[in-house]
Amino acid sequence: MDYLPVFMQLRDRAVVVVGGGKVALRKSELLVRAGAQLHVVAPAVIPELAELARASGGSVCLEPFHETHLATQSLVLVATGIEEVDLAVCAAARALRIPVNVADVPELCDFILPSILDRSPVIAAFSTGGRAPVLARRIRAQLETLMPEGVGRLAAYLGARRPRIRAAVPDAAMRLRLWERLVDGPVAERVLAGDEVAADALMAREFEADTSCGEVFLVGAGPGDPDLLTFRAFRLMQSADVVLFDRLVSDAVLDLVRRDAERIYVGKRRGEHTLPQPDINRLLVDLAREGKRVLRLKGGDPFIFGRGGEEIEQLAAEGIPFQVVPGISAANGCAAYAGIPLTHRDHAQSVRFIAGHLRDGTVDLDWAALLQPRETLVFYMGRVGLPQICERLVAHGADPATPIALVQQGTLPGQRVLVSTLRDMPGLLLNTDIRGPTLTIVGSVVSLHDQLSWFQSSSRTRDDGI
Ligand code: SAH
Repeated sequence: MDYLPVFMQLRDRAVVVVGGGKVALRKSELLVRAGAQLHVVAPAVIPELAELARASGGSVCLEPFHETHLATQSLVLVATGIEEVDLAVCAAARALRIPVNVADVPELCDFILPSILDRSPVIAAFSTGGRAPVLARRIRAQLETLMPEGVGRLAAYLGARRPRIRAAVPDAAMRLRLWERLVDGPVAERVLAGDEVAADALMAREFEADTSCGEVFLVGAGPGDPDLLTFRAFRLMQSADVVLFDRLVSDAVLDLVRRDAERIYVGKRRGEHTLPQPDINRLLVDLAREGKRVLRLKGGDPFIFGRGGEEIEQLAAEGIPFQVVPGISAANGCAAYAGIPLTHRDHAQSVRFIAGHLRDGTVDLDWAALLQPRETLVFYMGRVGLPQICERLVAHGADPATPIALVQQGTLPGQRVLVSTLRDMPGLLLNTDIRGPTLTIVGSVVSLHDQLSWFQSSSRTRDDGI
């Protein structure tokens, strides 16, 4: 993070603006909106700026800048457009430890003014660190559509009822859930529609709702790229009290979980289990019984090689409410980002997902059954057994020239695709540095990769590894 966003109280505080032109005016308007007293210093000042300064209870000083102008200020903004003056004001402000902002000179700024969406008391501020103002405007427009006009009124309404709610629901976790029901439900809708009397009546009913037992959300986090989360996954990630996550859940996805949620790593590596499955099942039940909203975040889809079924079996048996949110499985994510359609009229009419991990040192599969014409095979967990998988398929009659792709870190910034044939892949693996997780796709659809991956805007990298 390049900057720490903070919201500053400026009401009735003195702020100095050095510069008397249009840029100074633009920045000054923002300061005055936040209640600051504006003191403008410049040999010449445009009339609108002078008027703004006076209306704010501040002053206009028609002189060249001098250090004494900074005596009692809380912030300094500089917009003179003259390099020596910018530097002199900046040096003087820093000597007095007053934070300074110099328009269009990021190196001289102690703080920057972000783009703002003002629905006071709700204010969104965001910044691209000065790198891409057009992008900032685009984000602002998107945020505007997410923040209804009445959101400020809603914040004020809820704020006024905070002390009552705190007194009525002393338990913090239960109170959080009540707040969420208020914000997500009909109470908020009534306030947004301007009917606070009806909202109050509905709120009284919310107090009576039973919140003693928590809930478990079994959520598919997708293969890694956070853009592949579903809206529902994202919403539940915001409301969780505690999150149990696997090794396959990417950092970028975890970053989107509510900051205050407790994080428990229950990941597994090949052969070694941080927490055995029955203990995970137990933990889910126990946390929910404490009244928590438990987010069980799993890589890909929870019902594809995810043991999600076992986890909810226990929840169902013990009467714990739960919901399952599907995710994009590694096969779908890797195929799309690598430009390999899993089915295609000219190549494959069916696709088979296979767990390719070793059992007792060998890959134990019904090889003959796997060799169906016009079928794509996708092997999960097949990295160690990959040479064996290639050899067995050929031994059971597959064409040695059948194309095969090994997708590493699919959909993640480090995605690489290694393309070969069943005959050559084992040799290639000996000389290649492979980074997991990996997924293997076998079948003639792989031949489309060359043609389809290069122009695909969703593909993260074009580095094909060979
Ligand atoms: N439930 C998950 C699969 C869990 S099994 C899903 O639906 O995707 C774990 C295996 O998934 C890994 O061994 C690997 O084969 C595959 N995998 C998961 N994420 C992957 C990624 N980003 N790139 C390539 N393979 C991945």
